This record gives sequence, C-alpha cells and structure tokens, in this order.
Amino acid sequence: MNYELDHIDIRDAVTRLCEGFPGDYWRQCDRDQAYPTDFVQALTEAGYLGALIPEEFGGLSLPLSAGAAILEEIHRAGCNAAACHAQMYTMGTVLRHGSEAQKAKYLPSVADGSLRLQAFGVTEPTSGTDTTSLRTTAKRDGDDYIINGQKIWTSRAEHSDLLLLLARTTPRDKVQKKTDGLSVFLVDMRTVLNKSLTIRPIRTMMNHATTELFFDDMRIPADALIGEEGKGFRYILSGMNAERILIASECIGDAKWFINKASNYASERSVFNRPIGQNQGIQFPLSRAYSQMRAAELMLREAIRLYELGENPGEEANLSKLLAADASWASAEACVQTFGGFGFAEEYDVERKFREARLYQVAPISTNLILSYLAEHVLGMPRSY
Ligand SMILES: Cc1cc2nc3c(=O)[nH]c(=O)nc-3n(C[C@H](O)[C@H](O)[C@H](O)COP(=O)(O)OP(=O)(O)OC[C@H]3O[C@@H](n4cnc5c(N)ncnc54)[C@H](O)[C@@H]3O)c2cc1C
Repeated sequence: MNYELDHIDIRDAVTRLCEGFPGDYWRQCDRDQAYPTDFVQALTEAGYLGALIPEEFGGLSLPLSAGAAILEEIHRAGCNAAACHAQMYTMGTVLRHGSEAQKAKYLPSVADGSLRLQAFGVTEPTSGTDTTSLRTTAKRDGDDYIINGQKIWTSRAEHSDLLLLLARTTPRDKVQKKTDGLSVFLVDMRTVLNKSLTIRPIRTMMNHATTELFFDDMRIPADALIGEEGKGFRYILSGMNAERILIASECIGDAKWFINKASNYASERSVFNRPIGQNQGIQFPLSRAYSQMRAAELMLREAIRLYELGENPGEEANLSKLLAADASWASAEACVQTFGGFGFAEEYDVERKFREARLYQVAPISTNLILSYLAEHVLGMPRSY
C-alpha cells in the first residue's frame, strides 16, 4: 500500500508550503541559531498546528494520521518541524484532563496560534530520565501555588506563551508510589518572565531553540493546575503515544529526504567515468536504509490505526519511534557516505539534516528507554531501574 496517498490533499498542500522555505532559509537559521519565525507563521496561518484540536474549540478536528502526514511531509521536504511540532500536541493534556473552563479559555487561541503552547517542562538536570525524582516543587499557598526549582531542555520556551509544567506537590517520601504526588500546571509565562522565571538558551549541535528554566518563588494561580493534584505523571504519560507517533512520522520524513537526496546524487555523480550509484557499495546501504524505513512506516501505520480506534498502543507507538529513528539515522549515515566530501559541505543541507536527525536517538525518549519499556512491558522481564 502507498501510505503517501493517505491525506493526499494535506500532503500536497504542506509540500507546496514547504517549497517557500528552501535549503538556504534553513541554512541561514542554522548559522544564526535563529528561530524559523516565518516558517512557523506560515504553518500557523494554514491551520496545521491546530489540526488536532476539535472544531468546537476552533481547530480542524483532524485525526492523528493527518497530524502525522503534516509532520512527515515537512521533514520529507527538508524542513524541520521541531520549532513548532509541540504546538500541535502539547494541548492534548489540556484537552484530555483540563476543566471545561480551561479548555474554553485556552484552546481556541492555541488553535488560531494567537497563544503559543509549545513548551513542555519535564526534564531536570539532576533527575534526567528518572522523571519521578524531579526536584521542582509546587506548594499551595492560599489561592496560588509557589514554584521553585529548575528545568533543562525546555525547548521553544522563548517562543511560547504557555508552559506545561510537571512539578512535585507531595514529597516523594510521603507518597506510596513514586509516580504519585506529581502535578501538571499550565503556566502563563508572560506574567512571570524575567521576574520569578528566568529562561536561559542552550546552544546545541543543531538549531533547536532549547533552554534552561529557573523558578524562584514563582507564584501562579491555583487554577493553573490541570486535573487533580498528584495525578500529573499519568496525565503526561497519556500523551506519550501521540507524541511518539508524531515524532516517528518526522523520522520517516527525514529518512525519505536522505534516501531521495542520496539516490539522486548517486545517479548523477560520476567518478571513474561512471555514476557512483552503479557501485553496489553505494547502492546497498541505501537499499538497506530504504527497507528499514518501509518497515518502520508499516509499524507506524499500525500504531496510528490502533490509536484512531481508541486503543492504547503503547507497544506499537514505542516500536514506531524506535524503528523510525533508527531508519532515519541509517539513511542519514548512508547519505553522508554517498555524498563523500560534499556530505560535509553546508550548501548540500546533508550535514545539517544529519545533525538534526541524530537527536531522535535521545529525545523525546532515548532508544535505551524504549528498549527497556519493551523488555519490561512487552516481554515481561524484570524492571531494570
Ligand atoms: C535538543 C533537546 C530537546 C529537548 N526538549 C525537551 C523538552 O522540550 N522538554 C523536556 O522535558 N525535555 C526535553 N529534552 C530532554 C530529553 O527528553 C532527555 O534529554 C532525554 O529524555 C534523556 O534524558 P537525559 O538527557 O537527562 O539523559 P540521562 O537520563 O542522563 O541519560 C543519559 C544516557 O543514559 C541512558 N540511560 C539512563 N538510564 C538508563 C537505564 N536505566 N538503562 C539504560 N540506559 C539508561 C539514557 O538513555 C541516555 O542515553 C530535550 C533534549 C534535547 C537534547
């Protein structure tokens, strides 16, 4: 089956939009570590970032498969959705667990892009992958909560109005399960920025607009709490399948970009008076990467199918992310090798995409942690941590 026929109109429209943002646009942003504001604006105006928000709140009410198609095509076109993909799915926590008042207050503005909800503060410098040992606290004080602590790798915080924050409301030694006592807050950063909230950018190997956050007695209203106090960890987990599926779609798009770029180049580049693509040493890594990509794409389709049936496809969503990230990385590697020295030259975009593709072995969840999930939850082996 040709999955590219799925949501074909959306795919075509996204591809056309991306034509307005060619390699030199991304190279300039990359050089300056600048936020791709015009690109994000164009996606916002086209409504794509509100694709998954229900119509009653001003979104397009599209299924997850449409969100996946949008992100895949962005990456397949050589663009990068990391600057804004979270605007598409971070709202899911508010949609699923927020009160009617919170949904009515925020979702219409998130849908039309006038309010940016694309910062997600979970990871901390000391706890890392071990989320439940995070140290940021939220203490109730009358009609407010007071937040203290620090987050790291909070991407897009400088380009977001709202922050979805995970903090501890009950100390870890006072709860039965370490996953209890964590709560989710929807923080309006505009009211606290540069007062009790400091955002410090982190320069990274690719252009990613990621930051560190420092909370110093940050006072937020109690109605910023999403759902019930102490249940935040499960609210965050409930959004993980969608996130894994959407990130896997980006990886599939990247893999297609690398394979297309490399196979075209291999057919044109002539060395020893014949195209380098005539050599099986060049062909086979690309054929193998293509096979990996197609297999990952199949698993991704299965994850999406189950998700859209209302099931909880933890196994398939994790497998999709693992296989798609591996396929994109194998494609990136084969592409650089095919380009030889030119793979390192900025003007071909290969080295930029190579740096960008590497991230998905580590974030939003690392390959090791997916393997560990599979070992424990699918294969029934003892928990390793
Ligand atoms: C560019 C970028 C953007 C990000 N954006 C966000 C964001 O917006 N919001 C957010 O909250 N976080 C974000 N993250 C954080 C990301 O989710 C974490 O980096 C990732 O989950 C790994 O955590 P860590 O960096 O603390 O690694 P650590 O937990 O320090 O782990 C280091 C290495 O050890 C491995 N490891 C750890 N424990 C085990 C174990 N038990 N078994 C096997 N291997 C193990 C890990 O897999 C990893 O490879 C971002 C990260 C990056 C780099």
